[in-house]
Amino acid sequence: RAHLDAIAALNPRLNAYITVTAEQALAQARASDERIARGEAGPLEGIPLAIKDLFCTKGVRTTAASRILGNFVPPYESTVSGNLLRDGAVFLGKANLDEFAMGSANLTSAFGAVENPWKRAGDPEAKLVPGGSSGGSAAAVAARLALGATATDTGGSIRQPAAFCGIAGIKPTYGRCSRWGIVAFASSLDQAGPVARTVEDCAILLRSMAGFDPKDSTSVDLPVPDFAAACERGVKGLRIGVPREYRLDGMPAEIERLWQQGLDWLREAGAEPVEISLPHTKYALPTYYIVAPAEASSNLARYDGVRFGLRVEQGGDLKDLYERTRAAGFGAEVRRRILIGTYVLSAGYYDAYYLKAQKVRALIRRDFEQAFAEVDAILTPATPSAAFAAGEASDDPVTMYLNDVFTVTANLAGLPGLAVPAGLDAKGLPLGLQVIGQPFDEETVFAVGRAIE
Ligand code: GLN
Repeated sequence: RAHLDAIAALNPRLNAYITVTAEQALAQARASDERIARGEAGPLEGIPLAIKDLFCTKGVRTTAASRILGNFVPPYESTVSGNLLRDGAVFLGKANLDEFAMGSANLTSAFGAVENPWKRAGDPEAKLVPGGSSGGSAAAVAARLALGATATDTGGSIRQPAAFCGIAGIKPTYGRCSRWGIVAFASSLDQAGPVARTVEDCAILLRSMAGFDPKDSTSVDLPVPDFAAACERGVKGLRIGVPREYRLDGMPAEIERLWQQGLDWLREAGAEPVEISLPHTKYALPTYYIVAPAEASSNLARYDGVRFGLRVEQGGDLKDLYERTRAAGFGAEVRRRILIGTYVLSAGYYDAYYLKAQKVRALIRRDFEQAFAEVDAILTPATPSAAFAAGEASDDPVTMYLNDVFTVTANLAGLPGLAVPAGLDAKGLPLGLQVIGQPFDEETVFAVGRAIE
């Protein structure tokens, strides 16, 4: 009830939730109370969470923040949200996001922008963006409208909003969480993960979310470790890679200082920073912005007005139905991605763009493999800036894409990446650091993150 009251008070301003499921939440909470009374409490019994509106929830509208799914009520539960329910969690509602998770500022949602609860010192008027695409999840947790939230990360969408909102968030290794029942964006990059106030809370949530699922052919059949226990391992003797290519020209001095501060903390805790090279880093953003739209254009072909979601019928033939539905249903950024994706996949340009991007992706992955022969984890800034005001966002999509410069590499290589709140900038806004680990070694990532936060 406390969380529902907070949502009623603050959500009209923050717009972090698209749908609030108050009655269902109270019913789930009562069921939790009964299980606790019977001594049958699960690991997340009664914990109130927000669910990114990209996870299908049985009987609860799931929009992907798009008009095209504005009336879609799934008849099934995603594996990840089902795992949370199995462990006793209570769902407060569906969190806002960028349309189909495409964006870095939560400005593309068909249900309106999300406001970051943080304010710049001396500037109470400016509305800051929460980052994206999981901006609703991150804002809800930062504003205490949920104890934690599910999120997804295709190219930074867990880690960048977590950093902008001063909370923690982890994108686990590709294959750790099932993608079944999550609205697909770019299937070879998409991973689910939690955002929460602390690294340990993320560890607890991830343990429930993760696990093998035969319904996702890329889900990996490995035991799920006790991530919370790993948080307490310490970092003594660990070698921490510092990639020189992440020192960008023109990076704000305070981001540079924060990074150094993080390395100093780790050194004091017994770890050893080691300079490493990830030579193909400069190709990561262009590679991501070819691979992700290509896969998106294929995944979004299913929204045709026939099978589910919006249908715009005004006479004409089947092709008219497709065209009218898709023109009315998709926003500008989604259309841009579909156009880019179909272009790079087209017969004449496939070799020049998509195939080349796949080759560069392999080189980026190899960079990391070579680095991890020398180090146990890698530390980088999470974002190249603190949260910006919606009005300051450039109209140029490429400028927006630069937000993802430190995060897309982990998606391209399939590696776990954790954003940790690490300090404040001169205006009092949160800044985050990122810990990248080896495949399926989230435990080391959590240990390093815990030593920084
Ligand atoms: N900002 C990136 C994009 O717009 C990442 C999105 C994501 O991770 N879902 O594609």
